[in-house]
Amino acid sequence: MNAYELRTFNGLKFVTFPLFSATGTVKHGFSTRMGGISSVPYDSLNLGLHVGDNYKHVIANRARAAKALRITPERMVAGSQVHGDKVHIVTGSHLGYGAKSDTDALPGVDALVTHRPGVPLASFYADCVPVFILDPVRKVAALAHAGWKGTVLRIAEKTVEVMTATFNCNPRDCLAAIGPCIGQCCYEVDAKVINELKNAFNYWQGFTEKSGKERWKLNLGAANKAVLVDAGLKPVNVINANLCTACYENLFFSYRAAGGTTGRMGAMMELI
Ligand SMILES: [Zn+2]
Repeated sequence: MNAYELRTFNGLKFVTFPLFSATGTVKHGFSTRMGGISSVPYDSLNLGLHVGDNYKHVIANRARAAKALRITPERMVAGSQVHGDKVHIVTGSHLGYGAKSDTDALPGVDALVTHRPGVPLASFYADCVPVFILDPVRKVAALAHAGWKGTVLRIAEKTVEVMTATFNCNPRDCLAAIGPCIGQCCYEVDAKVINELKNAFNYWQGFTEKSGKERWKLNLGAANKAVLVDAGLKPVNVINANLCTACYENLFFSYRAAGGTTGRMGAMMELI
C-alpha cells in the first residue's frame, strides 16, 4: 500500500491516504494549490481566510474543495489555530463554525476530534504538519495542526489522549497519517527551537541534523510520528507522506518558500 495517493476529484488534486480509504469509514483529503480562483500570491486554491486574500474567492475555493470530496462546505468545522495544544470535541452543535468566517472558528483550537458522522473537520496549512488520526473501530476522527510549537507541545499525543478518554479509543486501533509539510530538506531552525525540542523529547537528535553554527535541520514529520508512537499507536499504523511543501511549490503553498505571504491548503475529514 502506498503511503499516499495524489487523486483527482472534480478536477481538483488531493493527497489521500490509502490506509484511511481502505477502512471505508471516512471521506478525507489534503488539498493542493491547484484548481482555484485566487490570484498571485494566493494562486489558486487558497483556503485560508486570514491571509489577506479576497474573501469571496476563498469561500468559493473552500466550496470547490469540499464538494470535490463530497463534503458540504457550509457544515465544515474549523479551529482558529493559534499554534497551541487545545483539543476540541466537535459535535453536531458546532456545524459550520469557522466555515465562512474566522470569527466563529473554535477559539484557540488547533486539534479537532469528532465521533459524529456527517460533521466535517477542517484545518489549514502552509508548511505546518497536518496530522490525520482515525480510529476505525470506535469510529472517531481527528485532525491536529502541528507546527514546531504544536510539535513540542505534543499536540498529536494530546489528541489521542482525548480520543481515548472521551470515546474509549484504543491507540493500538488508531491509524494516523502525516500529510504534506515542510521537509527536513527545507526547514532550518535556530537554537531557540532546538532548546524547546530538547525539553520535549529526550531523543530529539533522531529528527534533527546539524547544518551550521547554531543551526539545525528539523524533521517535523518524523517528530510527529514519534509523538504518535509515544501515544501508543503502532509504528506500522503511522504513515508519513514525506512530501515537502517547499520542494513542490507548484503543488503546495509554502510559507517559507514564499517568504511569508501565501495561501493555505486544507486538511478535511468527515466520518461517513
Ligand atoms: Zn524540501
